[in-house]
Amino acid sequence: MQTTDSETSGLRPWTWTVAEGHASNDWGRFRGRLEAVASRRRFSLQALGSAGGEPLLLLRCGGASDATPPLLVVSGFHGEEPAGPWAVLEFLESAPPELLSAARLTVLPLVNVTGFSKGTRFNAWGENPNRGYLGIAGESPSREGRILLDHQDLLVPAAQEGLLTCHEDVLLSHAYLYSLERAETPGELTRALLAANAEHFPLHPDGLVDGCAVNGGIVFNHYDGSFESWLMSHGITYAACVETPGQQPIARRIAAQHRMIDTFVRKSVAMRP
Ligand SMILES: [Zn+2]
Repeated sequence: MQTTDSETSGLRPWTWTVAEGHASNDWGRFRGRLEAVASRRRFSLQALGSAGGEPLLLLRCGGASDATPPLLVVSGFHGEEPAGPWAVLEFLESAPPELLSAARLTVLPLVNVTGFSKGTRFNAWGENPNRGYLGIAGESPSREGRILLDHQDLLVPAAQEGLLTCHEDVLLSHAYLYSLERAETPGELTRALLAANAEHFPLHPDGLVDGCAVNGGIVFNHYDGSFESWLMSHGITYAACVETPGQQPIARRIAAQHRMIDTFVRKSVAMRP
């Protein structure tokens, strides 16, 4: 769930101008819009903790019924991958009420605020917020990771029937995704997410991506020290990590991420037994 983890790539800033004319790393604008939509649509918004004086925000925007699937969407682990957070915001602003009430949806819109503000992959202390969750030798959790680990009792049930994490691969022009599934082959939800990504970009050729085998645009059941692997180790049923290509226009990347978030929620609701 990485591009490359070298110090160099983790600290290099990447920013774009988004359609509204502001910079992709405009945290003040992001937070203002998030608070506005939470207020307007009566979503609950809370801080799980803070890193560098900035909050790690959690939003609940779904129904409450046990008859609906608990789903977790997480974005902004890596600060040079801004399409996910802006797409999460667009989704929250525009998702139909009947879709939101059909799921128990929890959202972490922007995990790594200090990295996002600078446009750098890693946080302000050079830590990778998507590593160190499983105690693998040589890895330790970031400040944000420690906050998430401390909220295991909240996050595991929130993601019980599905986790979607929104990433980008800043050096690539092709799209792909990772899926972690209780199955031998990629299932219907993974294929739907891939199709949504492929509506916007060519898929990564078969071979290797970031050291992992990719086939038909999918890295399947690759476990590492990531947030996704951690929640799977605690029994959630499904995780996907979608990757849009940072070498493509930012507007198209946001549109693709938005489409995949929408697909994830709709399909998870429709597929529930
Ligand atoms: Zn990433």
